[in-house]
Amino acid sequence: RPCALRRALISVSDKTGMIDFARKLSTRGVEILSTGGSAKTLREAGVPVIDVADVTGFPEMMDGRVKTLHPAVHGGLLALRDNDEHQEAARLHDIGMIDLLVVNLYPFEETVAKGADYDECIENIDIGGPAMIRAAAKNHAFVTTIVDVQDYDALLRELDENDDHTTLEFRQRQAQIAYARTAAYDAAVSNWMADAIGQETPRRRAFAGTLAQPLRYGENPHQAAAFYTTGESRPGVATARQWQGKELSYNNINDTDAAFELVAEFDPSQGPACAIIKHANPCGVARGDSAIDAYRRAFDCDRTSAFGGIVALNQPLDGPTAEEIVKIFTEVVIAPDANDEAKQIFAAKKNLRLLTTGGLPDPQAGGLTFRQVAGGFLVQGRDNGHVGLGDLKIVTERQPSQDELNDLLFAWTVAKHVKSNAIVYAKDLATVGIGAGQMSRVDSTRIGRRKSEDMAEILGLSEPLTNGAAVASDAFFPFADGIEALAEAGARSVIQPGGSMRDNEVIATANRLGLAMVFTGQRHFRH
Ligand code: 5GP
Repeated sequence: RPCALRRALISVSDKTGMIDFARKLSTRGVEILSTGGSAKTLREAGVPVIDVADVTGFPEMMDGRVKTLHPAVHGGLLALRDNDEHQEAARLHDIGMIDLLVVNLYPFEETVAKGADYDECIENIDIGGPAMIRAAAKNHAFVTTIVDVQDYDALLRELDENDDHTTLEFRQRQAQIAYARTAAYDAAVSNWMADAIGQETPRRRAFAGTLAQPLRYGENPHQAAAFYTTGESRPGVATARQWQGKELSYNNINDTDAAFELVAEFDPSQGPACAIIKHANPCGVARGDSAIDAYRRAFDCDRTSAFGGIVALNQPLDGPTAEEIVKIFTEVVIAPDANDEAKQIFAAKKNLRLLTTGGLPDPQAGGLTFRQVAGGFLVQGRDNGHVGLGDLKIVTERQPSQDELNDLLFAWTVAKHVKSNAIVYAKDLATVGIGAGQMSRVDSTRIGRRKSEDMAEILGLSEPLTNGAAVASDAFFPFADGIEALAEAGARSVIQPGGSMRDNEVIATANRLGLAMVFTGQRHFRH
């Protein structure tokens, strides 16, 4: 059922493109109603416009909280055109039909993002806008709703193609977009409030995001995909600035997030750190005397896997480090910042994407994470668990040395970001073997060791660096066989949560093999 456009209501906060769009509607003979600021802008541009206040008979009042909340507006949006009673009521109360609603809402998400205080955020909760959008979208059998500046052209094209009418398909599509917008808007309000009042529990929350970027495809080329942002201001892949390179892909975004969240665990005031990620797992993490040193040491954990990886730094990227990174193919580099020299070096590498974030996220901050399952999704608090020296319980006869303790805590921090079952060997604050994502802990132990043996061969070392290493296990050892496998690999110290039924057996084995072992009392599953 095509519908003619006779009367439109325009009420927008983001006035981009409004004048041109309204003028084109006006030229087509559409009568335009508008609210305070929008009407003023249109009038100044010479577009004929009627104030909503003249339609409602009420001035806009209470700081704009009440502008369009009136039967003269909502009746005009909601009345069924083919229902005699509705039309009779409209005549009786002198309500004119509104065929097109153009609204974009108070910039609530932007207000939160810029760090506004509580009262300013509250004032930026749009009330009349969502009410009108929901009304117009409900009545899409007759009314067209536009909530996105980007759809102005689509509407003008629709009118061109349909003799100044809109088709039902078009109105349905726009109504669907409209409800996505109001749902996301209210979710943003609810989530902001949860933060503001310190309500960290994932219960009784609503979730929605804002489309940030349509993606070419998903994890595989036959999967459609898009990137949504939740408005959280945490520095990271969602808020980063991209300086060069192709658009990020679905997998790039996922891996870059893993890389940056991991490297953010390492306080830059205690020196540079670098993480290299493949398929959301680290293939090398290291601290260093300089950024280039940290990169080289991370690279030396598993040079083979690092090819085509994602590199994250906890401090600004400098020229020498950039020079070193471009020696092999790297997909993405993400850092808090990058200097001009580094940017110039990267400029020659068209396929390399450079992202800067302006800062590091707080690894101990709260927040929620999601995982989809058939028919729903799981929500949990971020794994912001952290253990320090004071939390460790030494359970073996041999006490770890200070160097061993430093390596144990380093390995433990990395293990938190490795898919379970995670085994991380570390020496001198660099990973030297990582076993990720195995169904058996012993297999992860063996894989980490084998990686280290392969690297020893590549680097021409007399023995693998796992000899004498500190080892982290993301969860407890259910049996003593894992400890035996670690000792076989030459490991000298172990960090793990503890808490197995067979802890006594596991500790006895560590004692027999001369290992030092500490318990954290905290687990870092990552499935
Ligand atoms: P303007 O700049 O035209 O004065 O205001 C436009 C904004 O006001 C739009 O974002 C629109 O969603 C919002 N708006 C329209 N009617 C009402 C209302 O009755 N109450 C509130 N709080 N906002 C409204």
